[in-house]
Amino acid sequence: MPDTSAIRQDDLIRSIADALQHISYYHPVDYIEALTAAYEREQSPAARDAIAQILTNSRLCAEGHRPICQDTGIVVVFLKVGMHVRWDAVMSLDEMVNEGVRQAYRDVDNPLRGSIVTDPAGARQNTRDNTPAVIHIQMVPGHTVDVRVAAKGGGSENKAQFVMLNPSGNIVEWVLQTVPTMGAGWCPPGLLGIGIGGTPEKSMVLAKEALMSPIDMHELKARGPRNRIEELRVEIFDGVNALGIGAQGLGGLTTVLDVKILDYPTHAASLPLSIIPNCAATRHAHFVLDGSGPVTLPVPDLSRWPQVGWTPAPTSRRVNLDTVTREEVRTWSPGETLLLSGRLLTGRDAAHKRIADLYARGDGLPPGVDFTNRFLYYVGPVEPVRDEIVGPAGPTTATRMDVFTDMMLERTGLLGMIGKAERGPTGIDAITRHGAVYLIAIGGAAYLVSKAIRSSRLVAFPDLGMEAIYEFDVENMPVTVAVDTTGTSIHRTGPAEWRQRIIELTTVPAPSTTRRQHRTRSRY
Ligand code: SF4
Repeated sequence: MPDTSAIRQDDLIRSIADALQHISYYHPVDYIEALTAAYEREQSPAARDAIAQILTNSRLCAEGHRPICQDTGIVVVFLKVGMHVRWDAVMSLDEMVNEGVRQAYRDVDNPLRGSIVTDPAGARQNTRDNTPAVIHIQMVPGHTVDVRVAAKGGGSENKAQFVMLNPSGNIVEWVLQTVPTMGAGWCPPGLLGIGIGGTPEKSMVLAKEALMSPIDMHELKARGPRNRIEELRVEIFDGVNALGIGAQGLGGLTTVLDVKILDYPTHAASLPLSIIPNCAATRHAHFVLDGSGPVTLPVPDLSRWPQVGWTPAPTSRRVNLDTVTREEVRTWSPGETLLLSGRLLTGRDAAHKRIADLYARGDGLPPGVDFTNRFLYYVGPVEPVRDEIVGPAGPTTATRMDVFTDMMLERTGLLGMIGKAERGPTGIDAITRHGAVYLIAIGGAAYLVSKAIRSSRLVAFPDLGMEAIYEFDVENMPVTVAVDTTGTSIHRTGPAEWRQRIIELTTVPAPSTTRRQHRTRSRY
């Protein structure tokens, strides 16, 4: 006889809320172990530095119970509900899940950033509590409720890809052609979830669900693939890492820590194929409710986090933001690391749109806003708690601001911008034309970055909440020059250089005397 203990409404709500809090500050241990291995293997100094920041940030967050990233994600929940489950509930399943989300994101000790907007094609109003979640429900035999919950960052969700291939199409080839077009806004190193088959919407759900499974590429490669899907995983894993994209797109040996694939039968005429990446803020958890009460996830053993202890490189150039000049900015080179001290301004999507509208109406900037010879940081921090100046405050994807960059540089007198990942052609053209510069901070190191912020002052647009313009006073904020004043981009030169180096690293001379003959072997 199945156990038909009722599952109480509060137990599901409490368990969802606890899981979301847990994953906001604890990376999955398998991610940390795979990233540590990548750190130890990495030979690109820029990529190694980026991974060191992500690992250091992860430990700080685990110890301080604060979010790994300022983007605390859109909540995705997969529920497998046993057909024998009895509910002690008055709310619908969706309402219970969303109440759990609401409680987690409004937690007083660790408030998480609300990123969800209603009316996405119109007013885009923030719901303030990060509801609603995206919920997938499946009815299965049994008397338990199996819950997998994830908080997916916008930067990685924005890079999702889909194609309907011909049945004779080459899956690996399409993936290897597509990943470079995704840029670095998904904050690698991460994972690729791949869905194959079904219908268009089914393949996308498979890709998302695939990301919930444990990282096991090391074990898979050690024992060898046992079926076609495992062969594809290995081929794609090796092929993507050989692209040389590297951590944060700076060029390096590791772009993905694993490739997860789920498949489903499909129409004889079709081959639907989807990719969804998971970023440096990989956040997911799994638990099962059986009627015995709420589930509390075990606290991970922090000794499994490496003692990387990132500190600024002594060779980094120190920049005083209060006195920096155009002449000084011209001497900075792509890939060079800087430590910024002094005052900078913040602003992201909504503030740019507001400024563009003001100029379009013939109005000027609001009183007190002056960008002349300043730097603008694309950021939307988490609310501070206790003695924090700001909450985690990592960079957001810069390409979204490309459309505004010429206007900002032309009309405001900015010297440069700080964001994450590459700039597009429009952004680079504007930067070159105005002799400006673009710097990156590390996506997925938000709590570490926030430690460099000494004070924060609201400057304009308070109604925009986390998207308002603030002035931060920073001390030794670590950034890397990504686009110099001539328009040279580390996101173009870095991966190109490391792609070539990987070819050289994996090409070893044959043991015979015929030195010009070579053989290749895979190291990844
Ligand atoms: S690590 Fe990057 S993609 Fe992931 S949530 Fe943070 S900013 Fe977004």
